[in-house]
Amino acid sequence: MKKPPERESMLALLKRTFGYTSFRPLQEQIITDCMAGQDVFALLPTGGGKSLCFQLPAIARAGLTLVVSPLIALMKDQVDGLQASGVQATFLNSTLSAADSKERFRGLYRGEYRLLYIAPERLMMPGFLERLPELNIQQIAVDEAHCISEWGHDFRPEYRQLATLREHLPGVPFLALTATATLRVREDIVRLLQLRDPRCYTASFNRPNLTYRIVPKNKPSQQVVDWIQQHPDDSGIVYCASRKSTEAVAEKLKAAGIPALPYHAGLDSGVRDKTQEKFLRDKVRVICATVAFGMGVHKPNVRFVIHFDLPKNIEGYYQETGRAGRDGIPGECVLLYSSADAIKQRTFIEEKTDADEQRIARDQLQQMIHYAESSACRRSTLLAYFGETFSDVPCGGCDNCIEPREQFDGTVAAQKFLSCLYRLRQASRFSVGLNHIIEVLTGSASEKIRRWGHDKISTYGIGKEHSRTEWQAIGRELIRLGLCSQSTERLSTVGLSDEGTAWLKSKTPLSLTRPIAAKARAARPRIEGDIVCDEDLFQVLRTLRREIADERNVPPYIIFTDVTLRHLAARQPKSEEEFAELPGVGERKLRDFSLLFLSAINDWRLAKRRN
Ligand code: ADP
Ligand code: ZN
Repeated sequence: MKKPPERESMLALLKRTFGYTSFRPLQEQIITDCMAGQDVFALLPTGGGKSLCFQLPAIARAGLTLVVSPLIALMKDQVDGLQASGVQATFLNSTLSAADSKERFRGLYRGEYRLLYIAPERLMMPGFLERLPELNIQQIAVDEAHCISEWGHDFRPEYRQLATLREHLPGVPFLALTATATLRVREDIVRLLQLRDPRCYTASFNRPNLTYRIVPKNKPSQQVVDWIQQHPDDSGIVYCASRKSTEAVAEKLKAAGIPALPYHAGLDSGVRDKTQEKFLRDKVRVICATVAFGMGVHKPNVRFVIHFDLPKNIEGYYQETGRAGRDGIPGECVLLYSSADAIKQRTFIEEKTDADEQRIARDQLQQMIHYAESSACRRSTLLAYFGETFSDVPCGGCDNCIEPREQFDGTVAAQKFLSCLYRLRQASRFSVGLNHIIEVLTGSASEKIRRWGHDKISTYGIGKEHSRTEWQAIGRELIRLGLCSQSTERLSTVGLSDEGTAWLKSKTPLSLTRPIAAKARAARPRIEGDIVCDEDLFQVLRTLRREIADERNVPPYIIFTDVTLRHLAARQPKSEEEFAELPGVGERKLRDFSLLFLSAINDWRLAKRRN
């Protein structure tokens, strides 16, 4: 067994190759164990920096590291990324021509590469396993290791055969990596890969740069358009429950001038790959997708993830939101929530025939509703689901911590609202929506109100002490508390529930919540990862990055990530020495790109002085 190199030399290698000056949590321990020849199991959240755990050891020692990955579409990008940092890497998969594969094999035999990315089915092809011992393989990294388990959500039968590698390469250590693993999946990984006395590492699942928000769902397509228009430079994903709605939302965004495309399993695989590539290459800003848009989303600068519909469970919601902010810069996670969505889902669940399945789905939905309706810190609620205690509340990164609510005596407001519903029902036989009730309460003189004679009922204009926005919040809370019912049709109407009627009769006090006035709020910590820089220069550098990327036919983040660009736009280096100090600038990228970026910064500075 080789002696692990000193810490300093690993840090120096990290800076020299990738331009980073420190390790992310657990990276260093995992790397040390890998260098010592241990089997390792690493559970790190998305954006935790899993790739570095096998890349750095691969660079540090002679020989080849085999990287098993199910994501064929991404292998080229991963290899291009390594090559841009001056690391010799290649991949083998079904997209290559026979001549290309042969050429790469020759390179492998000559020991030209440090890393080989390969899909498991390629590895298992006849004759291949037998040749592996000739390639001087030092380590086998199994990426997305949860694919081995039927209990996970991305089961790949080909992963099951990976244990045969043990027979062909008996002395070679394994590193299994994943971002998703329940206890059951974790046991499957260790058992099925035949890991030997593995060191197990689990990082915190907290994503300090993500902000979680629940927004009451009300004209959702318009809400999504408005939200995205307020973030004009950002790229993101809108998750929808159905194929049809991914297409409808994408259309709506396009009509509003926002470049967007749908993505779902019903589309041709060629179309799907193209869509994903356009997203990675910053050619389309927003993807409206079903959960089929998943594991392969390695774009580091996804700035927002919006959930148009209520997810089925917390696990899925966490994985989907996790695709925001891989690069460590702040990301926004917005969930549009209405209790009508929850009711709709409950109806689907009641239609299931398998009792076990039904029970699990019901429990999972209940957890999701609890998360959406709770007034506690979203981050601590999420992490509690994964068995973690997060007590650093207010967290500074969720709606409940940023805009905390306070309790107030809502008895009178609720009485007014519910009696108004009762009177409306008496006056007209039909049901009305929330906005109409509020118009009656606040004494609006609209044409509809007069036509229906709703200005004649006794509750007309009795609620002028609250604004329309306040009444909306009160109405929504009464629905949530079950005192009103909401229909699940598209134009949802509100009615008085049996509980509501009972409460009106009981005359018991009721407490409701409202936002605490801004000035009364405690000062809150900023969310992590924010890099304040000159936005104008940042855009200039982004354009330059895209030109270079297009010329090389690679995604822009392979040249520099947004983190490096923001630091560039903040510090505005004047020399190569200053440039070299920025995060994400290793030796190779300094040599290849510093001149171009330095002169762009200089031009920008001159132009600014002239204006
Ligand atoms: P994962 O596969 O765990 O989601 P990646 O390996 O894709 O994460 O890394 C996410 C991002 O973090 C990448 O842009 C990567 O370059 C960056 N990164 C990884 N390790 C470090 C580090 N030690 N310092 C700074 N950035 C890092
Ligand atoms: Zn919080």
